[in-house]
Amino acid sequence: MKTDNIAAISTGMVASGVAVIRISGPSPLQVAEKMFKPLGKTKVCDFEPNKMYPGEIVAKGFNDFGMCVYFKAPKSFTGEDSVEFHSHGGLAITKGILNKIFSLGVRPATNGEFTKRAFLNGKLSLSSAEGLIDMINSESESGVKAGYYLYREKLLSAVNSIQDRLTDSLSQIDVDMDFPEEDIEQTATPKIKQDIEISIQKLDSLLSTYRTGRTLKDGVKVGIVGKPNTGKSSTLNALLNYDKAIVSSVAGTTRDIVEGSIDINGVRFNFSDTAGIRESDDEIEEIGVSLSKRVLNESDLIVFIADASDFDSSDEQILQSVIDKNLLFVMNKTDKSDFKHERADIYISALEKINVDGLRQAIYDKTALKGLDLSGDFLCEERHFDALSRAKTSLVSALNSIESVSLDILAIDVKDAWDALGEISGKTATEEIINNIFSKFCVGK
Ligand code: GDP
Repeated sequence: MKTDNIAAISTGMVASGVAVIRISGPSPLQVAEKMFKPLGKTKVCDFEPNKMYPGEIVAKGFNDFGMCVYFKAPKSFTGEDSVEFHSHGGLAITKGILNKIFSLGVRPATNGEFTKRAFLNGKLSLSSAEGLIDMINSESESGVKAGYYLYREKLLSAVNSIQDRLTDSLSQIDVDMDFPEEDIEQTATPKIKQDIEISIQKLDSLLSTYRTGRTLKDGVKVGIVGKPNTGKSSTLNALLNYDKAIVSSVAGTTRDIVEGSIDINGVRFNFSDTAGIRESDDEIEEIGVSLSKRVLNESDLIVFIADASDFDSSDEQILQSVIDKNLLFVMNKTDKSDFKHERADIYISALEKINVDGLRQAIYDKTALKGLDLSGDFLCEERHFDALSRAKTSLVSALNSIESVSLDILAIDVKDAWDALGEISGKTATEEIINNIFSKFCVGK
């Protein structure tokens, strides 16, 4: 495969102590030769791989003092020859170095191009690259873990073993087609049938982890509902620990959905504070009310907040409207009143910060994650879920027709399943799928 030299800042366009600027391609060391003056005696062209050399980095218009390291193909991230400059991390510094690199005929890397080259050079699978994106983009511990599962090829090894089993079945089918005089009923079919059944079981057990995996990756959606002025924004603020929502004593101030996220036990919880559910003539507030209905339907958990000093029939009405949801009933303003309700799950004061930690735990305990061992492996990508589901559908179809159809038709279903599984690693993925995945990366990765 013919490639060119590409370069980008791998540490992002932010002022930082140190920045890493990476060049990858057929001849990055020749580029380094023209812009790096080593402090020691070793010339750039004689640099040993994987070794840091201090020296002067010649940028466009100025010099910086930093390090240079050479990675020799194929033992580099991309699988190509690569050079990294470790410079000081000021924006003008990194821009100047990058401009110098570009002036030497190197092209700016596109989104995810380093990782795409790594994939094309067989250094990682497509699912591993996806895990890398998930890890980089994740803001929670559980999201990083879910990404790491993919990145370290754990899903791939499970999928490969199913694919190997199907490869065996396909060769068995081939043999049986080549020797039709054999008694298929007696020999091949039971073994093929058993392999397909085992493969379906394995797919089922992977597929069953998806709901949890998705939650670990994207977080739990929590909708906060309640009458105006019961302290929804204040409770969200107390949970978030900063003033994101606007708190006001005028009823109906929270007009749009204010979102905030917190980590509880390493899992991300995404909160939507909604406009109070009530009839309103105000057009903007109407929008808020309809948004709040959407939140109601999309949330994994509804937190209903009532004011202990002002509990009335409209609270009962709201309670009834969400009673069939996964619900946490929070009685707020316990500093003002000791009113109790038989259905309330927890009593807090958002203003006085009473029992806010208890509320965090109660929120966690209301999710399907309670009691689950989250150190296990979970499917978290929709693309993988979709590919595994299609593989299963093809195998179920093969199983249902195994006694009645001819072997070549059976082979089509088994091959379809094999191809669907191949999309996970990228072996059978289309160019469109591949490009789509790498476009989600940032420049420099
Ligand atoms: P929302 O309309 O439900 O979002 O309610 P807000 O969070 O805007 O709060 C309405 C008013 O109730 C504000 O004046 C808050 O300071 C007050 N408030 C909120 N929580 C408490 C609480 O726990 N105790 C008391 N005494 N006042 C509270």
